[in-house]
Amino acid sequence: MRPSEHIDSYYSRTRTAPRDRPALDGRVETETCVIGGGLAGIATALGLAERGRRVVLLEAHRIGWGASGRNGGFLSAGFALGARDLEARVGLESAQELYRMSEDAVDLIRRRVEQYEIDCGDAPAGVVRNSWTDNPDAVKAGIGYMNQRFGGALEYWPREKVAETYLSPRYHDAVFNPRAHQLHALNYANGAAIAAEGLGAILHEQSPVKSITKQGDRHRVVTDTGEVVADNVVFCCSGEIGWLNQRLSWSILPIGTYVLLTEPLDDRLQSAIRAPHAAADNRRIENYYRALPDTRLLWGGGMSISRRPANLEERMLEDLFGVYPQLRGIRAETAWAGTMGYARHRMPQIGQLSPGLWYNQGYGGHGLNTTTMGGELIARAIAEDDHAYQAFAPFGLDFAGGPAGLVAAQLVYWSWKLRDAWDARRGGGGSRT
Ligand SMILES: Cc1cc2nc3c(=O)[nH]c(=O)nc-3n(C[C@H](O)[C@H](O)[C@H](O)COP(=O)(O)OP(=O)(O)OC[C@H]3O[C@@H](n4cnc5c(N)ncnc54)[C@H](O)[C@@H]3O)c2cc1C
Repeated sequence: MRPSEHIDSYYSRTRTAPRDRPALDGRVETETCVIGGGLAGIATALGLAERGRRVVLLEAHRIGWGASGRNGGFLSAGFALGARDLEARVGLESAQELYRMSEDAVDLIRRRVEQYEIDCGDAPAGVVRNSWTDNPDAVKAGIGYMNQRFGGALEYWPREKVAETYLSPRYHDAVFNPRAHQLHALNYANGAAIAAEGLGAILHEQSPVKSITKQGDRHRVVTDTGEVVADNVVFCCSGEIGWLNQRLSWSILPIGTYVLLTEPLDDRLQSAIRAPHAAADNRRIENYYRALPDTRLLWGGGMSISRRPANLEERMLEDLFGVYPQLRGIRAETAWAGTMGYARHRMPQIGQLSPGLWYNQGYGGHGLNTTTMGGELIARAIAEDDHAYQAFAPFGLDFAGGPAGLVAAQLVYWSWKLRDAWDARRGGGGSRT
């Protein structure tokens, strides 16, 4: 793995308080070494530093270089696995407990943004999930399910309201989540990293870890330019892990998703979007987007095993015109791809491989809140001998299939696309909870 800089994206173009951190140089001893400077690693380091523990974080490229600094920025409770599927898998009580943890992490992020004065945008509260399907009963049933069983605050938006706010021929009614919002992903990641450094954590960039070996009761983490000897090592490498640890590598699939930044739309924005909230839809492979204050659109969507498809700008524009045909003719400023780490069960993988060797990965497409939850659980386990992380034991390191798993994942995404199109045509589906 050769270290590299941030890719060109809306986030890297508009980041505030950029900070260069030196590569690891020489030998360092510490209590915990975190590998990976995405949100999972940063949250682990910050959680430990807040508890007064010594921690060194090694990032192969730059802090927030991976999915964490390029994502859609949608912050909400929940997991990549929907609540109904979660309930079916572990039962209502455990599902509620897990969901509550994911919700606490949203509150923790909000608290940290305030406490550490992290400049990560001022998007208005609330996210609208527009329905591609004409099935109001199913949408209302989905709202009832989430509000009653998981303490949600979801509101129903009838089709008349959607027609006035998100002017797409694809949309019917919608669900409004007042507790969700959109933030500047890279500024949040960098701000949380600066907060950790302020509390004594040591962060190194351009420091890809090459190997981890046992040294007595401790672990030796080696890069090209140095080594860290630590009691604990926490793997937070997500879909970027390569072959650093065979067990972890085999249990996660790197899946691509994509974001487009348009040129300023000026008055044309009003022909499509007239509400200030970030929006998504209720398909299996959804779009997620937001109009920026300067009228550019940040438009996300797609899922595939391709890390960066050819003609990404054109493809994303076509995707956008499929939803808002009245915008045809607008141009792209840039588009980028990011890699998510998915476990087969679509839930986070949080636990220990052996004493002192921790993993914190598998946050899929719903990682803003859950990485913070995972980081906090591991920090509590290391600093306070707390066992709450074991709530994730049902979601283990299932074999994800390696290259064959990637092919299978691509087939699943194609089938989801077909099913989305079919549902939209016949009015099926309707609620994605
Ligand atoms: C385009 C896109 C849109 C998304 N939108 C949303 C959204 O709106 N809301 C939401 O909740 N989630 C979203 N997600 C998902 C979310 O971004 C991820 O789940 C989350 O950022 C994962 O964080 P992470 O720290 O696990 O992984 P990453 O951010 O990928 O970080 C892993 C880090 O590990 C480093 N690393 C790997 N190997 C090594 C090594 N050997 N040595 C040192 N470092 C190493 C990598 O360089 C990388 O920086 C989106 C993802 C993408 C790609």
